[in-house]
Amino acid sequence: MIYLDHNATTYCDPEVVKEMLPYFTEKFYNPSSVYTPSQEAKDSIETSREKVAKLLGCHSSEIIFTAGGSESINMAIIGTAYALKNKGNHIITSKIEHHAVLHTCKFLEELGFEVSYIGVDKYGFVDIEQLEKSITPKTILISIMYANNEIGTIQPIEEISKIAKNKGVLFHTDAVQVVGKIPFSVKNIGADMLSLSAHKFYGPKGIGSLYIKKGLRIKPLIHGGGQERNLRAGTENVPAIVGMGKACELAEKNMEKDSAAEKELRDMLEKNLLEKIPEILINGHTEKRLYNTSNVGVKYVEGEGMLLNLDFEGICASSGSACTSGSLDPSHVLLAIGVSPEDAHGSLRFSFGRKNTRQEVEKVAEVLPPIVQKLRQMSPFWNKK
Ligand SMILES: *Cc1c(COP(=O)(O)O)cnc(C)c1O
Repeated sequence: MIYLDHNATTYCDPEVVKEMLPYFTEKFYNPSSVYTPSQEAKDSIETSREKVAKLLGCHSSEIIFTAGGSESINMAIIGTAYALKNKGNHIITSKIEHHAVLHTCKFLEELGFEVSYIGVDKYGFVDIEQLEKSITPKTILISIMYANNEIGTIQPIEEISKIAKNKGVLFHTDAVQVVGKIPFSVKNIGADMLSLSAHKFYGPKGIGSLYIKKGLRIKPLIHGGGQERNLRAGTENVPAIVGMGKACELAEKNMEKDSAAEKELRDMLEKNLLEKIPEILINGHTEKRLYNTSNVGVKYVEGEGMLLNLDFEGICASSGSACTSGSLDPSHVLLAIGVSPEDAHGSLRFSFGRKNTRQEVEKVAEVLPPIVQKLRQMSPFWNKK
């Protein structure tokens, strides 16, 4: 099996699993109980919180554990909307956000909030001028992703957060694809809130964090017990929290090495494909993007067809189409950067991880060209051109 879909999820690092295991059995205690073993469970949560904070360059009291990236994002956006609804009802985001952001904003629109969806250029960079012009006295939040999951484009995030700060507007960033890949500090980028998810960097699924800058008050989404500073009720998922802490520790250790190796493999694959397959291109910016991500546009072919054929060869990748209620919708990200709906259907995303090898890249470069050729021969568009 050749796995080239690390932006969808990663395997759990064996060291992470090892760290988690005792918390399912002998260390199962409820962190809120009063006896000594519970205190130890509570301490493990705090140790893990410190590890997350260290990776992000903030204080541990600024980290809230959630059930993943989507929940962190919902909490940041809806929690801010509820907290500041008397100040204003306007939110600014971009057209290329993850659905966790876009669908949350759509939900708030149903409740009477107004949302501006800022466009991007052909590389996927947010139109800063339009963003600045969209800010009104009613604007309460700007939410712009740090790096895009489909094409990898990395936004000039400091610049965007400065604009927000100058206008007195809160700034949240979906950093799910950046944490564990690129070193940064929340203080340097100037975010008020930042979302991350453990399963995108070799931690367990169903656990994430929201960084909330000290002093900032938002409303909770989940009500009940007083866990997580009254912001996220429910008995803590201690094994997952411990696993996330370990994943952060490993990320710090491995990031530099991983990035160099994965970039080399990614570039090698692109070079090979560009040489071997006519009429293909790289979507997004070739430099200012995640080093592990490649989005290849293959003209006159359906992405799904390529994926099925790759799957047959034991290769896992993803395409620019999302299957929504049985029909294939072209990626909103590719449409936003100006790719036509037909071409958006013919895109493939390869995203590399720590264990990928040169042999795997060679195999993909060997297998994909004949697949494309075969599919094109069946395409009326290819034959007509
Ligand atoms: C995966 C992902 C999410 C959602 O995270 P989950 O932990 O799966 O809920 C949000 N934003 C981006 C950019 C992602 O890649």
